[in-house]
Amino acid sequence: MASASVKVAVRVRPFNGREISRDSKCVIQMQGKTTCITNPKQAKDAPKNFTFDYSYWSHTSEEDPSFASQWQVYKDIGEEMLLHAFEGYNVCIFAYGQTGAGKSYTMMGKQESGHQGIIPQLCEDLFARVNENKCPNLSYSVEVSYMEIYCERVRDLLNPKSRGNLRVREHPIMGPYVEDLSKLAVTSFEDIADLMDCGNKARTVAATNMNETSSRSHAVFTIVFTQHRHDELTDLDTEKVSKISLVDLAGSERADSSGAKGMRLKEGANINKSLTTLGKVISALAEMQSNKKKKSEFIPYRDSVLTWLLKENLGGNSRTAMIAALSPADINYEETLSTLRYADRAKQIRCNAVINEDPNARLIRELKEEVARLRDLLCAQGLSAATFAGSKPDDPGGGSSIPTSPFAPMAESPLALNGESEPYSCAEDEIICTEEAMERLQETEKIIAELNETWEEKLRKTEAIRMDREALLAEMGVALREDGGTVGVFSPKKVSACSRGHTQAVAAFL
Ligand code: ADP
Ligand code: MG
Repeated sequence: MASASVKVAVRVRPFNGREISRDSKCVIQMQGKTTCITNPKQAKDAPKNFTFDYSYWSHTSEEDPSFASQWQVYKDIGEEMLLHAFEGYNVCIFAYGQTGAGKSYTMMGKQESGHQGIIPQLCEDLFARVNENKCPNLSYSVEVSYMEIYCERVRDLLNPKSRGNLRVREHPIMGPYVEDLSKLAVTSFEDIADLMDCGNKARTVAATNMNETSSRSHAVFTIVFTQHRHDELTDLDTEKVSKISLVDLAGSERADSSGAKGMRLKEGANINKSLTTLGKVISALAEMQSNKKKKSEFIPYRDSVLTWLLKENLGGNSRTAMIAALSPADINYEETLSTLRYADRAKQIRCNAVINEDPNARLIRELKEEVARLRDLLCAQGLSAATFAGSKPDDPGGGSSIPTSPFAPMAESPLALNGESEPYSCAEDEIICTEEAMERLQETEKIIAELNETWEEKLRKTEAIRMDREALLAEMGVALREDGGTVGVFSPKKVSACSRGHTQAVAAFL
């Protein structure tokens, strides 16, 4: 087990047009690992200093010797995390900061060379390293998912057929997960770049359609990286699995400063529930570290979708880094100071990462045991296997399933949780009702089926989803070349009032 602190970096961007036109002054200075902020209104006050693992000066340009480029940020943070992924650890990189401070630029960046962010650089590096492999007994597989959390609801950014919200569920063995989130099989950097692009567009268009801005949503790009090794001596196969979570958080500014004024109260309260909870979780974890005695201190992971899904990455089984994006301008002093304080707190968090060796074999065994237990339980209650074998777990509507976890119904009230709720455990003596047992049995069997899927099946599914995306594009009147570029726009096959929902889904994938 490797106990390590969360790596924390801050990065300051150049002035934007608005700041230049307002003749803004730069309140940030950096020296080595230290970042210094000056209060523009109290010039007499001593500047405040903060020290991080990295302080990135990206306020100027390449000519400046102290300038930190996209490549530099990737080299320090992205590459380190990628190497941990090769060791078999889960890894996570978060970008935090006010809207416009440079989170998306740091994580995704732009397509032009030299401007790509951590995510595309990491993906490219991942495949470069995989392709260097000459060992016939070592093989790799890469699967990708991309989701967005907005108002505590989860949306799949890669599957055009997945409309609306996905259920966040928790399984006693699997822990929290997003049901039916597509996990697409990729075999090259081009595959992954294509998905990234589709997801980014889906994110932007969905935001425009719903009259919201992507600054209020969290985007989570996940790579599941599996290394399969065959040992000739013992004729045994082993696996190492790493989950790489790359997170572009919602803007950290208080809702009222980002034009959220006219919003319905309920919605407003939910938008940053995940972000507020992240703050509470970080504070609680930092507190726990500075006060070693209170080890069992309550950490409110379950209070939001984001913190629940990223539970392991925050103080759990993960190597984690946070990059706080800063605006250089005097007009943003208060927000920037609050970002620096947030980052300062995150430094104290320690994670205990373990190498995930053969997790699937173990998981499948545990899940099968759970299935046997639930079947026995149902039999004891007088239900024959035939009664529950007929009900299909992957019912497309998902409407008939009975929610068991407090996370299950995501539609109206996103989270009916309070801080005191106990995670539901799978203790042997646990009492669960028939419906719950049935639901959990179906859920468990579905997870086993997914874990047992062959690589060929995964590739087939990925291809089917790609064809869905293209069919939707064709319906909209856009044709794609082999390489994914647009060849032209022709007359849409059908445009009618009833296809409006469809058209919106199409628009989301343009
Ligand atoms: P956020 O995602 O935090 O809301 P963005 O990443 O979209 O902010 O950045 C806002 C604008 O500033 C974008 O136009 C982006 O290209 C630019 N920008 C941000 N950081 C940098 C940087 N380090 N260098 C150059 N431009 C940047
Ligand atoms: Mg952004």
